[in-house]
This record gives sequence, structure tokens and C-alpha cells, in this order.
Amino acid sequence: MIKETIEKIKQGRLKSARVVEESLKKARQGQSRYNSYITILDEKAMQRADYIDDCVKKGEDPGPLAGIPVAVKDNMLYRGTPMTCASEMLRNYISPYTATAVKKLLEAGAVIVAKTNMDEFAMGSSGETSAFGPVRNPIDTERIPGGSSSGSAAAVAAGEVMGALGSDTGGSVRQPASMCGVVGLKPTYGMVSRYGLSAFASSLDQIGPLTGKVEDAARILKVIAGFDQKDSTSVDIGVSDYVKDVDKGVDGLKVGIPKEYMGEGLSGEVRQRVENTAQKLERKGARIREISLKSAEYAVAVYYIIGPAEASANLARYDGIRYGLRPGNSKNLKEQYKKARKEGFGAEVKRRIMLGTYVLSSGYYDEYYSKAQRVRKLIKEDFDEAFSGVDLILSPTTPTTAFKLGEKSDDLIGMYMSDVYTVSCNLAGIPAISVPAGKDSAGLPIGCQLISPSFGEALLFRGARQIEKFYE
Ligand code: GLN
Repeated sequence: MIKETIEKIKQGRLKSARVVEESLKKARQGQSRYNSYITILDEKAMQRADYIDDCVKKGEDPGPLAGIPVAVKDNMLYRGTPMTCASEMLRNYISPYTATAVKKLLEAGAVIVAKTNMDEFAMGSSGETSAFGPVRNPIDTERIPGGSSSGSAAAVAAGEVMGALGSDTGGSVRQPASMCGVVGLKPTYGMVSRYGLSAFASSLDQIGPLTGKVEDAARILKVIAGFDQKDSTSVDIGVSDYVKDVDKGVDGLKVGIPKEYMGEGLSGEVRQRVENTAQKLERKGARIREISLKSAEYAVAVYYIIGPAEASANLARYDGIRYGLRPGNSKNLKEQYKKARKEGFGAEVKRRIMLGTYVLSSGYYDEYYSKAQRVRKLIKEDFDEAFSGVDLILSPTTPTTAFKLGEKSDDLIGMYMSDVYTVSCNLAGIPAISVPAGKDSAGLPIGCQLISPSFGEALLFRGARQIEKFYE
């Protein structure tokens, strides 16, 4: 747990410089095997660590994350350092300011050691769409780590950093967390500021922590959550102490299992593990019941209309003039736009932009986009109804454990379906966590997902901590 390291650093018994140096060393070694990073911030990190150690020496409190090495997905700004979104488009882009979530980490004393590799513009489920090469799963390097926060999950799983930030638009924190055997939380929409996060689908994006342990995720959420004037969707409800109650257990809690999440497409071993986990929770005093999320089967379809629609608008700024790659020798403005977008974006990003432009075009807007918005509302209502009878929902995080690199490259639907249990939470704006629940017969991590109503994070951590204990 990060708590011990933080305490030692605060008491001056351990130097942040030592911990950070070790982390940087591991990160550099790991890089050749897993390709988890786009930028390793050696010098800047060491300077920060020395600064933290100085604070301690002077008797100052460096903050609740004092001196621990963390990594940040490369779609968040950190002033003066590159932010690429794993795209050719932003290969040479330097952050002009620092994202609020990153700033809060720094103010809490954390040391940012690296920016992590990811699917290009956070579009993908395997880490394979990065312009900087695929990320590999540290548990088995022939396999994908999940995505799009691939490098953040891999870096934590490999023990190179003590925590990382990812972003989750349809599952991109939880799905790689599940496949790499770490904890990943998508907070309630509006809980963590999106200021300085490169926008993919603004109504779905949330920043969340990936960590080795549930308590660590609670600790990091407490730091990064909170109202931010700079994000108009930020919610002003104050920040709770998520750490305080993590060990309270599940006695008396009602937990629902959606029957739609346990059927076709789900691997037998994953299903079995979720069922076993439910039984174990029951033995700890939880009451388990089957529930129904009637519109669940439409979630992926709705997501792949709304997500690309918003992405096509957000990515319009990368035109080679205002932002992005600036190819030379264009004869006129139109050619400049074309060249920049042709050379700057990879295949998956182009596909999403085309899809989004199509569903927003006149004539198709009502048929696809408006309809998707209406179904989105039904999905939200399903959850409202479910939560009138249960406190938490338990489900698998992903239908299968980590698949092989390249295995789904020609199977787009199969790739998109790996988010089938995660996207609904983004559509409904509610929080969810993926927690490791042991391994399958091939030794690959299985993740369980817990979902709660909006702002139920404290309860999520409690439930997740209980599950974590079963498999420690
Ligand atoms: N895998 C999903 C997608 O490709 C989700 C991505 C995300 O959450 N950023 O869009």
C-alpha cells in the first residue's frame, strides 16, 4: 500500500529521491518489454523528489501523497512536457499548462515520473492503436494490456509506479485494470475536473486512478476530486474521506447482479468467478439478488454513436492550423487540412470521425444521434430503477481475460464488445470500479466490476476492498 511509503517519506525515514530513482530505473527497464511510456520525465521527477525531501527536512508537510512516484496518461497536460495522445498529430506538442487533476497530484506531493502510452486519442480497447507502438501486458507480453489507459495499467501492474491516472470514456480505466490485475476507478461524471484532459467524448470522459490496492485508489481520488471552476461540468458537492470506511465490509448491503451481464458472450471462467465472488460476499453479510437492466443490450450501439459524434466535433480542432501536425508545401488551405488529418490521424481515429460526422449529418441526425440520446436516457433509467432495490451492482468488468496482440485487429465488433459491461456507466454518468478477483486457468487476471449510484464512491471502495481481501 502507498500509505506506508508516504508515511516513511513524511517522517524522513525514506527519501522520495530514492523511491523515485528506483521507479525511474524500473520504468526504463520495463519500457523495452512493455512499451508503457511515451515520455519518461527523469530530470523533472528527480527535481520534484528532491524538493519533497527538502520540504520534509524543513519540517513542512509535503501533502497526502508525499513523494510517491506516479504516472499520468499521455492525454493530460503537464506544463512544459510533451502531450501526444499517442498520435502523430501531437507528436511535437508541448503542454502549455497543467491539467487540474495533475496539478492536484503535484500539490499533494506526488512525483510524476512518466506519461503513459495509450490508444490514440483514447480510442481503443487494446493499446494497439498508439502511434508509438502497442503496449504489452506485463502478466503475459504476448497479450494486450487492455485500453485505452494501457500504459497506466501496465506500469502499475509491473510495479514501476505506485499509481497512475487514466481516463475512462467507455471503460478505458476499468478494462485495462481488469486485464492487468490492478484496481481501476471511473468516478461519477463531474467528480474529477476534465480541464487539461484532451477531450474525446466530453459527456462521457472522466479521469480516474489505477492502483495496486483499493485503498490507494481511494487515497488518490480524495486528492484529484473536487469542484473546478475551469470545468463547466464539474460538480460542487465537496470531497469525502474515501479512505476512512474502506474496511467497513459489506454486512447488510444489497448487491444486484444484472442477468443481462451474465449471459451470451461471457467466458465461462469469468462468469464462474463473478458467481463465486457473489457467494463470498453473501457469506460476509451481503444480500445478493438478480436484477435486470433492460436496455443493456443497446449500450454498445449507443456508445458508438454518441462517442464518435462528440469525438468528431472535439477533434475538428486538429486541422494543421490551430492545432496539430503542420505539413509543409500545401498549395492551399483545404489541402493543408487534408494533409494534416490524413498524416496525423491513425485508422481508428479516422473511423470514429467518419462515423461521428455521419450520425450528426442532416438526414441521419434524427435516425441515429437523437435516437441514441433517447436510448441513453433509458439506460440511465434502468440503473435508477435497479438502485431503488440494491446498494451496489456486481458484474464482470470484461467478457474475457486479456487476448493476444493482433487477435482482434480484424474483428472490430469483437474489439468493441470488450467494453460491453463498462460503457453503460459512462452513458449513465455513474461511478464504477474494477477490482482484481484472482486469475483464470491460464494465469490471466480476472476483474470484477462494482457499480453504484452517482457519488457512491465510498461504498464502491468498501465493496471493492472486501472483494480484494478474498483474492489477496
Ligand atoms: N474502448 C472504448 C473505445 O474504444 C473506450 C475508450 C475509452 O474509455 N477511452 O472507445
